Amino acid sequence: MIRIVPVVLLLLCGCIAGRVQAQQPAADTDAVEMDRDALQQLIAKARTSDTGTTPPAAKRSERDAGVNPPPTSQDLARMNEEQCLSYLSQRHIRTHRPDFEMPLVKMPLLLDSPIEGVTVAAKWPGNRKGSVMDCRLIAALVEVCRFCADRGVDRIEFYSAWRAPKKGHPSRHNEGLAIDIRWFTRKDGLSIDLLDHYERNFHQPPCDDEPTSDEGIFLRDLACHLHRTRTFNVVLTPNADEAHTNHFHFDITPGASWHIIR
Ligand SMILES: [Zn+2]
Repeated sequence: MIRIVPVVLLLLCGCIAGRVQAQQPAADTDAVEMDRDALQQLIAKARTSDTGTTPPAAKRSERDAGVNPPPTSQDLARMNEEQCLSYLSQRHIRTHRPDFEMPLVKMPLLLDSPIEGVTVAAKWPGNRKGSVMDCRLIAALVEVCRFCADRGVDRIEFYSAWRAPKKGHPSRHNEGLAIDIRWFTRKDGLSIDLLDHYERNFHQPPCDDEPTSDEGIFLRDLACHLHRTRTFNVVLTPNADEAHTNHFHFDITPGASWHIIR
């Protein structure tokens, strides 16, 4: 029960910031205003749901078919810059430091190469700051991309990673440790769009959903895989609230030992 309060606070303060319209970048419409009723509902949900807690440790076979399980969000959060850059280098991921200041981002990087064969790109690359990620977020995307590559997806597009701080709405986005992803493209040309294909079940635990389309199953399975493997501290799906009807929010929360999916 003690865990509930931080979870609720996180949902209020975290990401989360984005009441995103269907075709607009999240960076432009960033403020979620959650009213008092919504807060009470969220608390009630958290008290009656087990989805705000850390999942049981994933079996090695679930986490990785290979020898080494992927790092959890805690493992990633503890990495220093040298360790993180080495992790990326071992996976042939090329990056460069932005040529502009990103004061809140500890290890700011821009991606120069695919990850596990999957291109991860901003939908609106003109927003250069929005593409900046902390090195540890890029390291977490390895598991996202591995899951996607195994299912024939070779392109992921996101609204933004970094976003400017807004008064009263601190966010992992401000540190480059969160990303809002909406679009996936398969090698055969099939496009998967969260807004169209996520079979949303408002306020229900995503991993209890039973989508019927191939696209819906892919999207649910991705979110639940990332929760089960503890790759991110926070996985928000379109089930979470109105602000997330068109994207996944994934983030690493340094110092946190919990993992939530909504
Ligand atoms: Zn977000």
